[in-house]
Amino acid sequence: MAALYFHIPFCLKKCSYCDFVSFAGREAHIGAYRAALEAELAEAAGRYGRLPIETVYFGGGTPSLPEADLIVHLMAMCRALFFVNPEAEITVECNPGTLNLSKLRDYRACGVNRLSLGMQAAQEKLLRVLGRVHSPEQVRDGVELARQAGFTDISLDLMYALPGQGIADWVDSLKEALALAPTHLSLYSLILEPGTPLADRIERGELQVPEEELALSMQHAACRILGRRGYRRYEISNYALPGHSCRHNLCYWTRGDYLGLGLAAHSFMGGERFANTSDFDAYLSGTRRVSGGFVGPREALEEEIMLGTRLSEGIALERLKGREDRVRALAEAGLATVEAGRFALTQRGMDVQNAVVLKLLDP
Ligand code: SF4
Repeated sequence: MAALYFHIPFCLKKCSYCDFVSFAGREAHIGAYRAALEAELAEAAGRYGRLPIETVYFGGGTPSLPEADLIVHLMAMCRALFFVNPEAEITVECNPGTLNLSKLRDYRACGVNRLSLGMQAAQEKLLRVLGRVHSPEQVRDGVELARQAGFTDISLDLMYALPGQGIADWVDSLKEALALAPTHLSLYSLILEPGTPLADRIERGELQVPEEELALSMQHAACRILGRRGYRRYEISNYALPGHSCRHNLCYWTRGDYLGLGLAAHSFMGGERFANTSDFDAYLSGTRRVSGGFVGPREALEEEIMLGTRLSEGIALERLKGREDRVRALAEAGLATVEAGRFALTQRGMDVQNAVVLKLLDP
């Protein structure tokens, strides 16, 4: 049983904060990229046989930028080569500026049953700072088109701790998002990646990011507002209505098997982690895996603690054998709960998750 990820690295324009492996202006290479992905998919089927697939995720980049036939074709190939569970969760990440009804209908017809839309903010001024190609109206229109095409499972991404963003802006973004009735929300704090245009502007003093305290207040406001509306914080940055947690991402966080195909895609199969090249030309000419290795028991435990403490369901207490004193101290400090054989962080614990992880990992 595995999760399947396809990386589609094309974007209309590079966002100012983005350091993902994605490119603007390379649309002419979509055909060649598709051929390379197909070759990798066929090779994977040769290696793993008819792998049972529980989730498929098209991420990027902007998977909704190319014509729909890229995804339609890859899904047909997946079904021919693997055993795709009829109940599989199949997600396409979409940029609202790249959607139309016929594309969405084609996605739906080939079995895509979940869309993840990058909304980011409800304010035009903040979208401009981020260098997003879409407007707030296009987000609303995108959701409307998705519903017309038959999608009921829609996730929205929002970003906080943005330059020039006040708490009122953030609350408005949350309210705007809720007005679109998503089943799932991912809330990401801005991470300034060195060398990106946004990081450069901040370094030059042209823009300022909110203080850490304000960023934390934004996170707390989100917990309150979304909690009141029935969204459960099932992972540090993710909230869902009952039954709508992202199964694909849960596979990553619980260290299930996943196979990543495409440029810079990462995999974890049978205890081995490996990564593809992030060199576009090399990938097109057939280079794939560039690094990898089996994960040893100590590293596996570290991963389990790092990932499991992100989840509201936490990790099995038995995995923390020998650390009972620290588990007790964290629970007494109100940072964690120990219930039904699980160790999980409270909201206060999630605020300081890195420190908790370090404490638990301290030899
Ligand atoms: S749309 Fe996503 S992947 Fe593309 S440039 Fe923007 S943030 Fe990066």
